Amino acid sequence: VPATADAVLDGLDPEQREVATALHGPVCVLAGAGTGKTRAITHRIAYGVRAGILQPASVLAVTFTARAAGEMRGRLRQLGAAGVQARTFHSAALRQLQFFWPRAIGGELPRLLDRKGPLIAEAAARCRLRLDRNELRDVTGEVEWSKVTQTVPADYPAAAAKAGREAPRDPAEIGQIYATYEQLKRDRGTIDFEDVLLLTVGVLQDRHDIAEQVRSQYQHFVVDEYQDVSPLQQRLLELWLGDRDSLCVVGDASQTIYSFTGATPDHLLDFRVRHPHATVVKLVRDYRSTPQVVHLANGLLSRARGRAAEHRLELISQREPDTEPVFTEYADEPAEAEGTARRIRDLIATGVPASEIAVLFRINAQSEVYEQALADAGVPYQLRGAERFFERPEVREAGAKLRGAARFGGNDTLLAGATGLPSEVRAVLSDMGWTDRPPAGSGAVRDRWESLAALVRLAEDFARARPTATLADLVAELDERAGAQHAPTVEGVTLASLHAAKGLEWDAVFLVGLTEGMLPIHHARTDEQVEEERRLLYVGITRARRHLALSWSLARSPGGRPSRSASRFLDGLRPGSRAAGHRGGAGVLRGGVERGGSAPAAPGRPRRTHRSPARCRVCNRTLTDPGEMKLMRCEECPSELDEALYDRLRDWRAGQA
Ligand code: ATP
Ligand code: MG
Repeated sequence: VPATADAVLDGLDPEQREVATALHGPVCVLAGAGTGKTRAITHRIAYGVRAGILQPASVLAVTFTARAAGEMRGRLRQLGAAGVQARTFHSAALRQLQFFWPRAIGGELPRLLDRKGPLIAEAAARCRLRLDRNELRDVTGEVEWSKVTQTVPADYPAAAAKAGREAPRDPAEIGQIYATYEQLKRDRGTIDFEDVLLLTVGVLQDRHDIAEQVRSQYQHFVVDEYQDVSPLQQRLLELWLGDRDSLCVVGDASQTIYSFTGATPDHLLDFRVRHPHATVVKLVRDYRSTPQVVHLANGLLSRARGRAAEHRLELISQREPDTEPVFTEYADEPAEAEGTARRIRDLIATGVPASEIAVLFRINAQSEVYEQALADAGVPYQLRGAERFFERPEVREAGAKLRGAARFGGNDTLLAGATGLPSEVRAVLSDMGWTDRPPAGSGAVRDRWESLAALVRLAEDFARARPTATLADLVAELDERAGAQHAPTVEGVTLASLHAAKGLEWDAVFLVGLTEGMLPIHHARTDEQVEEERRLLYVGITRARRHLALSWSLARSPGGRPSRSASRFLDGLRPGSRAAGHRGGAGVLRGGVERGGSAPAAPGRPRRTHRSPARCRVCNRTLTDPGEMKLMRCEECPSELDEALYDRLRDWRAGQA
């Protein structure tokens, strides 16, 4: 713990100090990735508390994930400023709502609906509309989007058209389902995830006495990752503030990656307009990444377009130079996964801890092949912010169907050869509506297709390696894999989607699957959608401290048609790419693109499982207290209900991604 308030400022550069000591009035920090935004606001709170200027209980710090909130609380404790509330918007709102509900509305807070699906399906049925599974998930996404953008059912068709949403059904029908769903929810006395924010906003708007009580409790507000605030969250923030302006926001418009859920960087970029007297600080020194990583990030953003790009800041690395980013083109996806796993094993052998390594991908369906390759290489891993592959509903359903088919077929059915088995699996999956052709749509429909396609590929690899295998053998293999993946593997390489990696950092980062169609994702069509995909890559690149590897593969399966090409975002950045020469070397790296060959399929190898120390399920801190270990949660982290909310939010985001 620093000895004095001033000692809290040690280890901050002059601009960060300016942020930390500007305790009065609005403050806005506009800065690129790794420049110490989160560090500056954490030290700002600690400095204010230690100097006796801020009462710990009067500060509300809002972060993007429960994990980030847990990290901030831990850091504040280390700086001698315990007792500050660091929460997500949802967890802060829920606490207030629980407290004020009896007075504002009467009775207890209604039960929180953990899943919208069944009620949406019922609402659709009442409207005499039938939704298949995929439509149900996509309509649910549209209802959620409507709520965070404060769009009422009657306005859905116009608002969705204006926002360029890809409506999975006739927009008028969606509006009708949405209205009926809201009615059903009221009739049943339940609330959903978005209602927590909507109701808090409603209570604070309508009840001045309650608003005043909240305002007398919280007087200073700090918001991290402000570029991704939704209109609903912004409204809540304004209500918390009232006519005061003790607000400090930090963000990076170039990291806006949640606009598909209704978030917008406009609040960040217009902060100065709304608060003309604000202290605005720009940070450009990058403390996270080596010059090589920073060079690549700058090169990528120099090609960006749109409003966020106009505000970009060139980053200047403060670290010693280290290795160049490695670009690798693989023949196929299993080869990419195996090559990645091999590199990771080598890095670990040189002393980089597994927990300091991450593999980041665009969509969660990409995780399976990497889970498998890492398990085969004996490398422990953990999934963050993604549903584990074998826990996905469609994969479970497929597993059950395959098990049924295997039993029905009996052991005497010897399915002959590599060509008995994948078509058998295809036949079973086609009962679930799966076809070889990817669906045109996006979102949940596509994710589901990808998951099932991954199962078909797995069957193909399995059959190739064991030509006499039966469906029963495959089912046994699936069970074995599923079992191994359920084992706790907390301490290890992180597998995460680019969305879930925001705000985090690792020594080594592997950005995989960087092909056209994946990044940008095939359904990103408008310029703005493509720019958001570019920002996702920027977020990915800037997670790396020292080692960065970027890879893609030309075909799906070994021996498959090489139908893919490297992401357009790498043009001009990767060595030898078309635009590289024209740009006079800006952003172009030395060395060449490495080529990884095709790997032999290797299913059926024994899997290793890894035990690891107890960690908090919410903030991931190592637990030593027996009581906390039993709960698998540290005392300061959110309660069970908050946790369910957090999971819901995470799944919701993962699903939308
Ligand atoms: P992101 O945009 O990814 O959220 P950020 O701007 O919030 O990044 P931080 O996570 O606060 O950046 O800091 C990035 C890394 O740089 C951290 O490891 C942090 O400890 C370190 N760092 C920040 N400022 C300094 C400094 N003045 N001296 C040394 N290290 C620093
Ligand atoms: Mg940060």
